[in-house]
Amino acid sequence: MHLQNSTDVFVVGGGPAGLAAAIAARQQGFHVTVADGAAPAVDKACGEALMPDAIGALEHLGVALPAPEICRLSGVRFLSSGFSAEADFPSGQFGLSVRRTILHRTLAERAEALGVNLLWKRVVTGIADNKVCLADREIRARWIVGADGANSRVRRWANLDRFSHSRLRYAFRRHYRVAPWTDRLEVYWGKDSQAYATASGPGQVCVAVASRNPQLRLDESLREFPALYERLRGAKTTSAERGAVSANRRLKRLYRENVALIGDASGTVDAITGEGLDLSFCQAIELAKSLCTGDLAHYQTAHRRLSLRPLFMARLMLLQDGRPALQRRTLRVLRGRPQIFRKLLAFHVGRSSPLDLALNGLTLGWGLLTA
Ligand SMILES: Cc1cc2nc3c(=O)[nH]c(=O)nc-3n(C[C@H](O)[C@H](O)[C@H](O)COP(=O)(O)OP(=O)(O)OC[C@H]3O[C@@H](n4cnc5c(N)ncnc54)[C@H](O)[C@@H]3O)c2cc1C
Repeated sequence: MHLQNSTDVFVVGGGPAGLAAAIAARQQGFHVTVADGAAPAVDKACGEALMPDAIGALEHLGVALPAPEICRLSGVRFLSSGFSAEADFPSGQFGLSVRRTILHRTLAERAEALGVNLLWKRVVTGIADNKVCLADREIRARWIVGADGANSRVRRWANLDRFSHSRLRYAFRRHYRVAPWTDRLEVYWGKDSQAYATASGPGQVCVAVASRNPQLRLDESLREFPALYERLRGAKTTSAERGAVSANRRLKRLYRENVALIGDASGTVDAITGEGLDLSFCQAIELAKSLCTGDLAHYQTAHRRLSLRPLFMARLMLLQDGRPALQRRTLRVLRGRPQIFRKLLAFHVGRSSPLDLALNGLTLGWGLLTA
């Protein structure tokens, strides 16, 4: 790709958040450049589920995932020690699962088709005075967007590196060649860890495990989930094990002067929510609007609003972490009163109000006391 000396918006990092930010800014008419140290299709440890909101956001961005490569998700199933409970997404809503590399390639193709200047295998080495530094040149930019992931260097360079975070969790994922047995996103609750299983395209299931133990690896931890272990027994693995750190991380500030952060660079929600991609896409749409008005404070406000619900749900779900007795009681209540699970899931995907949540939370609490 031809290197120009200036651009309206320079996006550092071409992962899902950076590409979404580039697409949204280009849709608003900006000249956009993206640089990433890697080349498509970039893979990453991910549960590979897209919640219903993510689908709406992708439509807004004009991104159409290839139909043969996606699976439709009808809802969520929790499993623990022989118990299970499940709920559908609210009526008319569905999720999707897609291999991370397919998602990345599709986003990159959409950005390219819109005329985004994509610089792959180009590491950004610094930013200064409306300039972005690559190894061999500097590019002037009116706006600089840090989309360089959870360990963002842009965040450090822009002096935005002040944040609070929950205890870190360590996650690993791998794919298995096995016919998907469900159209639900499954969460297996173990004593000190959870496993997530999602159909990830035809004939393939993505499994991720998260725990607070940095030493725990997939093979070892799967034995904690006998039902899942049985399903995967003998199945060929189709990807290498990949790890990542997961946490709720909230930044004090998201922008300084002409630099704004997006995606994992701008804070994270624990992997248990399955909301990281959804958030990135919705943030991208809000950021592009703010670039048009030149008001990044508006972006920060919108970003905080978008993060509230997933952060809350992550905390609520992680109350179960390491408490097997509570997990069993909760599953008994959710199975016995499926309407509570449906309402909680509706809140999780932004389709019911905090009042509804409070009422159902009280019913759940009462159920736990009396179970
Ligand atoms: C185990 C796990 C499971 C998850 N499951 C789900 C799920 O099921 N659903 C969901 O929605 N979310 C999930 N998430 C969250 C989701 O994966 C992240 O929120 C998402 O990857 C964020 O994308 P990003 O573009 O911000 O960051 P990244 O994907 O990390 O991309 C950052 C990019 O920046 C580039 N980069 C970094 N530094 C530089 C530099 N100096 N110069 C140039 N390029 C640079 C990197 O090469 C990379 O391509 C999960 C997360 C984990 C850890």
